[in-house]
Amino acid sequence: SQDIEEIASLFSVSRTDAPTSDDERAAMLESPKFGTVFSDHMARVSWRRDEGWVHRRVEPYGPLRLDPATAVLHYGQEIFEGMKAYRHADGAVWTFRPEENAARLARSAHRLALPALPVDDFIAACAVLVRTDIDWVPSSPDSSLYLRPFMFASEPFLGVRPSNEVEFLVIASPSGAYFAGGVKPVSIWVDAEYHRTGPGGTGAAKCGGNYAASLLPQEEAAAKGFDQVCFLDGASNTYLEELGGMNVFLVMDDGSVHTPELTGSILEGVTRSSILRLAADHGRDVVERRIPLSDLVEGLGSGRVTEVFACGTAAVVTPVGRMAGETFDATVGDGQPGELTTTIRQELTDIQYGRAADRHGWMRRL
Ligand code: PMP
Repeated sequence: SQDIEEIASLFSVSRTDAPTSDDERAAMLESPKFGTVFSDHMARVSWRRDEGWVHRRVEPYGPLRLDPATAVLHYGQEIFEGMKAYRHADGAVWTFRPEENAARLARSAHRLALPALPVDDFIAACAVLVRTDIDWVPSSPDSSLYLRPFMFASEPFLGVRPSNEVEFLVIASPSGAYFAGGVKPVSIWVDAEYHRTGPGGTGAAKCGGNYAASLLPQEEAAAKGFDQVCFLDGASNTYLEELGGMNVFLVMDDGSVHTPELTGSILEGVTRSSILRLAADHGRDVVERRIPLSDLVEGLGSGRVTEVFACGTAAVVTPVGRMAGETFDATVGDGQPGELTTTIRQELTDIQYGRAADRHGWMRRL
């Protein structure tokens, strides 16, 4: 829109004097391991309590110099987002519902007592970075340029109060197909011992601390041989919430599609809300409710639950082949990707990569 272009024009662009060569970049784009390779530039906006958002710029990608007393290093006042830029067959580059990520960042900012960044500023920063590093958007199947916007307390200050200085940055990382060699079902450990958050906590915010809290349970589940952890609610240890970085869905034998309702401790995934819409388009009953673990266990045993999948920006839709906890161990269906899981994954990626009509107006060209 015009507002976004106006804000985009406020960014000063200082290009690196050591750009990655075309050959080097081509090699890096071939099969990048997720999150290890970064484009040549980063977008950046600063905030001062008395000035607001200032100094919009694109600068060479590189280390930040931080005072050891920088507040984020001590009190974890930090939030982030994750979204992708997709290259379509005609070469144009598009993002998927970026205003949803912008709105979620603003909600996260509120919870972490960080300043809200206006939606148009968020999209403009992403657009300016992607335009500067447009050659970093891969074109091989299922690849994309992953965008990581983040905001942190940058004031050098020891003391527990909201920072008076904040930095917002966007960095970009080319990412290949998440599942090299085809989509593989994952196994999930349902954790009744640890919680990533609790009532009144930060579960609905995308803040670093939530992910720090998920590392030990993830590590312990991995030691038991599981790929991912599913957390239960912190109040009653009864209801399914979500995985460390993905929302979860069940498909029932009557065709209905169920996902845990948003309780304040679950992250509201953009993929989750899009899938609710796509499933409804199929005429499926979509049900957001509290799902007791006992329901899941009973349903996996009786065959009432026919499919389970996890979803998020990075892996889109991931079939779940096995779920287990202290008192149960069940194969989901026949352990292979279910029919609706496969259909939804295909439909969503067809829209994102421009292979299908964008009937909901979800795509935004950068
Ligand atoms: N839950 C958590 C905890 C996450 O970190 C993510 C990834 N942002 C999701 C769910 C899925 O969200 P989205 O579909 O917006 O990527």
